[in-house]
Amino acid sequence: MSQPLSAIAKDTGIQYFLVSFTDLFGVQRSKLVPAQAIDAMAESGAGFAGFAAWLDLGPADADMFAVPDTQQLIQLPWKPEVGWLPADPVINGAPLAHAPRNVLKAQMARAAEAGYVLKTGVECEFMLLSPEGDALSDPHDGQSKPCYDQQALLRRYDVIAEICDAMLTLGWEPYQNDHEDANGQFEMNWGYADALITADRHAFFKFMVKAIAEKHGMRATFMPKLFAELTGNGCHMHASLWDEDGNNAFHDNTGELGLSQTAYHFIAGLLDNAKALTALTNPTVNSYKRINAPTTLSGATWSPNTISYTGNNRTHMIRIPDDDRIELRLADGSTNPYLLAAGVLAAGLDGMERKADPGQRLDIDMYEAGNDPAYADRKLPLNLIDALRELEGSHALRSGLGTDFVSAYVKLRIAEWQDYSRHLTQWERDTTLDC
Ligand SMILES: [Mg+2]
Repeated sequence: MSQPLSAIAKDTGIQYFLVSFTDLFGVQRSKLVPAQAIDAMAESGAGFAGFAAWLDLGPADADMFAVPDTQQLIQLPWKPEVGWLPADPVINGAPLAHAPRNVLKAQMARAAEAGYVLKTGVECEFMLLSPEGDALSDPHDGQSKPCYDQQALLRRYDVIAEICDAMLTLGWEPYQNDHEDANGQFEMNWGYADALITADRHAFFKFMVKAIAEKHGMRATFMPKLFAELTGNGCHMHASLWDEDGNNAFHDNTGELGLSQTAYHFIAGLLDNAKALTALTNPTVNSYKRINAPTTLSGATWSPNTISYTGNNRTHMIRIPDDDRIELRLADGSTNPYLLAAGVLAAGLDGMERKADPGQRLDIDMYEAGNDPAYADRKLPLNLIDALRELEGSHALRSGLGTDFVSAYVKLRIAEWQDYSRHLTQWERDTTLDC
């Protein structure tokens, strides 16, 4: 974009810019900058005290500057006088290595060196709640199998259509919206793109859904497991690698299910690194109430319980839905959009570098077979601390994603786990009072 942002502001009516970065816990932090000051800010970055966000910085550290990526400007469809700019944190004149957008860019550069670009699409499930967040927004949404419920979908038409209209305006190529498998749960799908673009859109989508829901007197949540008996909020990712000539490197007419050897090495990398990757795809204490969960009221959790891959079968961690991509069904709504893509790419590249073999796919119902002792060594981590220790000890992800990042991430998440561990629950009282 050769035009300065101030000129774009004049053309489009933007009066303020949100210069926004995403921290390690996925929180978006911003400065609201008037259009007349944006050109200088685009050059130097907006200043932040990094310690005040979830980053591994101290209060005595120098100011961190978030330098906006001016190519990725998004004018807020619901508030067109504001423009949103994803930004890259810089400190002491160099990129902050553990900042999530920088981590993903480093993985994209690694892939580019090998001759590939990762393309992704994400399915961000969310729920619409009352403003207090303690009940569904729609008291009539009570079916035991609510997936694709036409009546409940249309009762939330005003919110869903406004979000979809926004995506149409932004050129994201949205193509379908539905009521999902939990009461109050929805999913909206848009076109796939280069992983960095999808990550920016994924971050913006969460911001937009929450903002538009608020406008309609509701609260939107991407929390992985809000109600024990209902299906949680997943974030399935569809992924493919493309070569420098613009060919899909995952597709091969002669390959098993139409996928190439490259795709199978990538799958093997995801399987081999799954336990460590879970610390990124399922990053919160609550995440582990969704994976490994008992059956929900609807009859299925739709989340994996085992490290396995399959063909067109939704009971596994990796599904091959077609001959052009894979679907990773592991991540949930609390995943950081940048770290999700970075983790997937690092794990996949590791598999490709080792020419790893994923073994035979399993064409079985893994929800049935998941508790079979034969698959005991394929169980996903049962809680966040186990996943963090896997990540901490993972040579492949540490060398792929960088020690700076892994150390910073594990340190902050372990501190969060310790905070959680101090809380007493009713379950403990119920089961331990009479010990
Ligand atoms: Mg879904």
